[in-house]
Amino acid sequence: MPAAGAARFPEASFRELVDRHRFSEPVLVTRPTMPPLAEYQELLEQIWESRWLTNRGQFHRELERRLAEYLGVENLSLFCNGTIALLLALQNLRINSGEVITTPFTFPATPHVLYWNGIRPVFCDIDPATLNLDPDRVEQLISPDTKAILAVHVYGTPCDVERLQEIADRHGLYLIYDAAHAFGVSYQGRSLAQFGDVSMLSFHATKLFSTFEGGALILKTEAQKRRVDSLCNFGITGEETVIGPGINGKMSELQAAYGLLQLDMVDREIENRRILSRHYRDGLAEIPGLCVLQELPGVQRNWAYFPILVDARAFGLSRDNLHGVLKEFNIITRKYFFPLCSTYSCYSSFTSARPENLSVAHDVADRILCLPIYGSLSPGDVRAICNVLAELHALLAASA
Ligand SMILES: *Cc1c(COP(=O)(O)O)cnc(C)c1O
Repeated sequence: MPAAGAARFPEASFRELVDRHRFSEPVLVTRPTMPPLAEYQELLEQIWESRWLTNRGQFHRELERRLAEYLGVENLSLFCNGTIALLLALQNLRINSGEVITTPFTFPATPHVLYWNGIRPVFCDIDPATLNLDPDRVEQLISPDTKAILAVHVYGTPCDVERLQEIADRHGLYLIYDAAHAFGVSYQGRSLAQFGDVSMLSFHATKLFSTFEGGALILKTEAQKRRVDSLCNFGITGEETVIGPGINGKMSELQAAYGLLQLDMVDREIENRRILSRHYRDGLAEIPGLCVLQELPGVQRNWAYFPILVDARAFGLSRDNLHGVLKEFNIITRKYFFPLCSTYSCYSSFTSARPENLSVAHDVADRILCLPIYGSLSPGDVRAICNVLAELHALLAASA
C-alpha cells in the first residue's frame, strides 16, 4: 500500500501518478539561501585578523546599525537566538510572576519562555482568519494575576495590533510580540516590530533572514536597550559592576558577519517568495478543499511561509494523510504548528489548556500544512507541486 491513509486510491493509478510526478530530490519545506562562501571567507579573514570574536565587535555593531536602518526601527539589540531574546524581554520589563495570556498556536519557545520566567501561560483561542490571538477572547481571560499579553504574528500575519494595544492599555498590561516570523513585515507603512512594548525577531537558519542562530529585540527606549544589552552579558556594565542577574545571550562576530551578507540578499529573497506565493495561489485556486490565508489590507508581507488549511471532505484526504502522501512524491511539507503547545504534558493540566476552550486552535492545528517555499525554489517547482495536488484531488474524486 502507499502511505498511510491513501487506501482510497486505486493502487495502480496512485503508483502511476507517483512515477510520473515524483521529484528526483526531496523538496524540503524550507532551505536557507546562503551568500557565496568566498564573501563570507573575506569577513572571516577580518575576524581572524582582529582576534575579536564576540562581545560587541565591529560586525556586531555594524549589523545592529544596519538592521535598525533596514527595519526602520530604533533601539535594536542582537542576541544569540530568539528564545533568549524573548526571555530577556520579559526580564527587562520585570515580568517574573503571575500570568501572561498567549496563544497555543505557536512554536514551543513562546510558552516555554514564560515558564522560564516563573510565569504561568494562559492559553487563549485564535482568530480563524489570521490564526493569531483573538482579542475578544483575550479580554475574557484577564484576571488580577495577568501581567502581560504575549502575542505571535504567526506566518508574519499581523495580529490585531490596535485592539490588542487598546485592551492592554485599558487593563494596564504589557504587550509583547513574538515576531519571529515577521522580519521585514510592515503594517500601515510602519515596521510591525515597532508595535507593542517590545518585539522579538528570530534569525534561526530556517527563518527568512538568518545568522545561523540569532535573534533581536526591538525596544521602546534607549534606556531599555542599554539595560537589555547588559542583561545579555551577565548584567555586566563595567569592570566591577553587575546590575542584575543577567545571562549569556550574546551574538558572536561569526553570526553578525554572516548576517551582514544575508541582509544584502533579503530583499531578493522576499521578492522570490512573493512570486512563488503568487504561483501557489494561482495553482491552488481551482482545487477544492485547499484554502490559503486571506490577504489583509495595509500589510506588506514577507511571504516567509506558505500555509494551507486542508478540508478533508472537500479535498478527499485529511491533512495527516496528505502530508504522508506528498512524501511519496518527495514533497516534504510540515504540520506547523501541530501539536498545539497547550497539549504538551507540561501545560495540558491548565484550565486554559482544555480543548473546549481552544476549539479554533485545535481545528486549525489539525488542518494546517506548510508547503515548501524558499527563494531558490523555482516557479516551475511550485507549479509541479500544485499539479500533484490537483491530480491527487482528481484521482480521489474519480474513485470516490
Ligand atoms: C523560531 C521561533 C522562535 C524561536 O526562535 P529561535 O531563534 O529559534 O530561538 C520563537 N517563536 C516562534 C514563533 C518561532 O517561529
